[in-house]
Amino acid sequence: EAITVGELAKQMGVKAAEVVKKLLLLGLPVTVNQAIDFDTAALVAAEFEYEVEKTGFEEEDILRTEEDRPEDLKPRPPVVTVMGHVDHGKTSLLDAIRHTNFTAEEAGGITQHIGAYHVKLDNGDVVFLDTPGHEAFTAMRARGARVTDIVVLVVAADDGVMQQTVEAINHARAANVPIIVAINKIDKPEANPDRVKRELAEHGLIPEEWGGDTIMVEVSAKKKIGIDDLLEMILLQAELMELKANPNKPARGRVIEAKLEKGRGPVATVLIQEGTLRVGDAYVCGVHYGRVRSLFNDRGQRISEAGPSMPVEVIGLSGVPMAGDDFAVVADEKQARMVAEHRLRKQREKELSRTTKITLEKLYEQIREGELKELNLIIKADVQGSLEALTDAVKRLKHPEIKINIIHGATGAINETDIMLASASNAIVIGFNVRPDSKVEDLAQREHVDVRFYNVIYQVINDIKDAMAGLLEPEY
Ligand code: GDP
Repeated sequence: EAITVGELAKQMGVKAAEVVKKLLLLGLPVTVNQAIDFDTAALVAAEFEYEVEKTGFEEEDILRTEEDRPEDLKPRPPVVTVMGHVDHGKTSLLDAIRHTNFTAEEAGGITQHIGAYHVKLDNGDVVFLDTPGHEAFTAMRARGARVTDIVVLVVAADDGVMQQTVEAINHARAANVPIIVAINKIDKPEANPDRVKRELAEHGLIPEEWGGDTIMVEVSAKKKIGIDDLLEMILLQAELMELKANPNKPARGRVIEAKLEKGRGPVATVLIQEGTLRVGDAYVCGVHYGRVRSLFNDRGQRISEAGPSMPVEVIGLSGVPMAGDDFAVVADEKQARMVAEHRLRKQREKELSRTTKITLEKLYEQIREGELKELNLIIKADVQGSLEALTDAVKRLKHPEIKINIIHGATGAINETDIMLASASNAIVIGFNVRPDSKVEDLAQREHVDVRFYNVIYQVINDIKDAMAGLLEPEY
């Protein structure tokens, strides 16, 4: 970590001008407030017979990963999250897929859910995250974790596109993750897949047979129809994406879930994203650290190593990490501990400084500094009519430097999922003719999300215009 010339001079008890002069003589013209690196500081300090010690450190120094060479990258299985409206069959589909692949014994009572499982197919493997829904997906994203490669959107053929179907579409899109549609419950007499396709088309998901590019598969989770087709399509999509990772380096991954277990201590399911994790490896995981005591796969079997895309239970942690936490193997336990402690300090500092994400007040500043190229908005309105009117008005707003995106618009109150989506996508939430809810406001505050309430369209548009021009008066 760098130090300014002024600070260095102060610590040595010499005049800043003296240090500046010495640096100039060393061929480095600098000003008092300029930061110099460790080596330069050490060099000039030596001139004053002082020694410079390195106290802080950058995580990257320890977690440094060299750029992978193309020939080191090997194909890895896709990681899939299942989403969809409640009762459309997400859980049933996950169970059906699990049963087609596990032996009766594995799929029976002895198999415990570890948060993800992987299926082996003739043409490759697929990994499914076991917690369906866009809420879990976006909560992970808000924590900086990008684990899902493909979203399978389940839509019941007897019910069609519903509110959470639309939410799921928008959450997947905000994350830039491709969607494969599973039209479920086709065994039901009242099933109407064509209606589902029409409704999905209205939301921009056009089936391939209609000239679009969205893969849609008709399935029945209950009668186990079309499951193999769906898996094939997932593999096909994955192939197009050319998912690759380097298995020959220290492992890195993300925590999918974690808990404290009787007799086992803290247990974390980690999805390996690159490298290979082995028993005995020292690692840092969020603000915790440890050495891998044992590893278990999704079938409850003890294993000695796990490569890219594999979910694995890790035993031997100093504490229980959080879902979404980063997991990284380091050279030894001492380094692991150093990074973990450093993170804990940083986390405390961050909590104190309350770094805010985007707000309308800070918009102008961020545009001017070139930090912001897009303004993401989430709009929740009381009725469809006002939602459409507001959406149209916002879409007509133009700014030479930033693009306005409405990443999600729906009727109804602002809910916790909206806040998490805003947090994950750096968006502002606008509530129109809807009332604040204290639980949601608390979450918004914790996630530093700007939520604004209006009941006049003109006012919303004016505020956004003013914000873009740097004219918005701060709210107190
Ligand atoms: P989730 O809320 O999306 O996880 O939905 P569930 O998997 O819990 O399923 C909701 C209900 O739909 C349950 O009663 C299931 O038995 C039923 N269900 C799920 N898939 C099918 C299907 O393919 N056909 C029929 N007929 N029922 C299904």
